[in-house]
Amino acid sequence: MPDAGLATGDHFDVAVLGSGFSGSLISWLLQTAGLRTVVIDRARHPRFAIGESSTPAANLILRTLAAEYGLPELAALSRFGTWRETWPGMRCGLKRGFSYFAHRAGEHLNPDRENHNQLLVAASVSDQVGDTHWYRAEVDSFLARRAQEHGAVLLEETEIRSATRRAGCWSFELKRDGLARTIEADFVVDATGAGQALVNCGGVESDPVRLQTSTRSIFAHVRSLPLWSDVLATVDPSSTGQHPFRCDDSAMHHLLEEGWMWWLRFHNGLTSVGFVIDEARKPFDENLTARVEWDELLAKYPSIQNAFRDAELVHPELIRTGKLQRMNRAVAGADWALLPSTAGFVDPLHSTGIAHTLSGVERLTRILTQLPAGPDRNAGLSAYSENVSRELEWIDTLVHGCYECLADFRKFTAFSMCYFAAATTYERRRLDNPRAIEQAFLCADDEQMRQAVTTLSAVSGQMAASDFETLCEEALRPFNHVGLFSPRHRNMYECTALPESSTT
Ligand SMILES: Cc1cc2nc3c(=O)[nH]c(=O)nc-3n(C[C@H](O)[C@H](O)[C@H](O)COP(=O)(O)OP(=O)(O)OC[C@H]3O[C@@H](n4cnc5c(N)ncnc54)[C@H](O)[C@@H]3O)c2cc1C
Repeated sequence: MPDAGLATGDHFDVAVLGSGFSGSLISWLLQTAGLRTVVIDRARHPRFAIGESSTPAANLILRTLAAEYGLPELAALSRFGTWRETWPGMRCGLKRGFSYFAHRAGEHLNPDRENHNQLLVAASVSDQVGDTHWYRAEVDSFLARRAQEHGAVLLEETEIRSATRRAGCWSFELKRDGLARTIEADFVVDATGAGQALVNCGGVESDPVRLQTSTRSIFAHVRSLPLWSDVLATVDPSSTGQHPFRCDDSAMHHLLEEGWMWWLRFHNGLTSVGFVIDEARKPFDENLTARVEWDELLAKYPSIQNAFRDAELVHPELIRTGKLQRMNRAVAGADWALLPSTAGFVDPLHSTGIAHTLSGVERLTRILTQLPAGPDRNAGLSAYSENVSRELEWIDTLVHGCYECLADFRKFTAFSMCYFAAATTYERRRLDNPRAIEQAFLCADDEQMRQAVTTLSAVSGQMAASDFETLCEEALRPFNHVGLFSPRHRNMYECTALPESSTT
């Protein structure tokens, strides 16, 4: 993608650091709203990025943003059907919901008729209105191009060498094509994710917060991975008969002793796959290469290993991370803000990253475009900062509780309903009041829900599975609008989306 020209001393209303989907989207929105915006990235589009499984909440936010800023091409990305019709060249995958399969080491997985080792939760009622997996190289590139076409200045392959405040504005020393340049901006949005450019350049104080979850990941894109429904059919042809949708059209979770594995299928023959490993169950071993650890994990679970027999890793092959969790205490000040994915990250479980980050884009854009610099904006930014911190800690509670229940699928399923209750209640509240600027993501500001979930998490290890299930059902009753725990579902939920999001 060609860069726009760069002149030393250029002054912008907003500098956005990072041109992933969040940095590109907020640049597009701010520029559309009349703010002169520059977006700076050390990489060049298109490039690989992880974090691909979207959710109904993410799609609700996309539709709200599209309506608010008059961007119908953005709304098209919020449903599988309109995405494929409007942008057939941009790859995605169909996501009808979430699926979970509980494996035992050394044994083939054989789904039982009572569904004691499988759970499917459909969000949408049809493929047309389904959610999506984002093929990030193309989605991020698309959004960066849109920002650029609407007038934002996009600087790629540009190193941010320093960020300082001078005479009431930000000054950035950049290096690009071997040349040093300086630009200025009144406000800076950090969208560099784990890069945390503003913190690492000294522009903002580093104040790390410790989260409860402790996991790491090994992931890749693969070609020629067979359908999981076909793998199951070889064990028992009737085993998928109860599935409310094709289980491959989902964010698929294979639950394992040491963590879980995701499969996200795109319609270009590629599947995103990755292990998420609980550090407490299997600490990082520097003597193992990523490949050796990957092969060892596959070998432990025969059904998964069989599926991978002919699968081929594609560029960039295996990526192994260290500990995934990170969080910075301060999230915004009078002239700066971190988007949620830069402020912190918990875990891929529950696919919260894209939706949380979009909720940050939404709130921050409203603050910057509707509140002039001064006390009102400062108050808005302060509330944003508090909320994003609270939300990251809340996601940590929802995720950590699931890891605590990993060894017992019945408990895992019961505690997972905390997430589904929070997500569907958040969606409902958004639909009731889409313009509420302080809508906390996943109801993180709901004290009753937080109290209930915190208690459930604390007692999960001390109770029999059936008692824990009953307790979860009772505790979540005020937030259960979609029939969670209903015996008629028996772990096969046909639709949890609210009417607005399940229609075309
Ligand atoms: C293993 C894993 C799996 C995940 N799975 C999911 C999932 O299934 N669903 C989900 O919703 N979320 C998931 N997430 C979270 C998701 O990846 C993030 O929420 C999402 O990528 C955030 O997008 P972003 O645009 O804010 O940041 P990023 O995608 O991280 O983009 C940051 C951009 O900033 C640039 N950059 C970084 N540092 C600098 C620097 N110093 N200077 C200049 N530029 C810089 C990078 O080149 C990049 O273009 C996952 C995360 C991980 C780690």
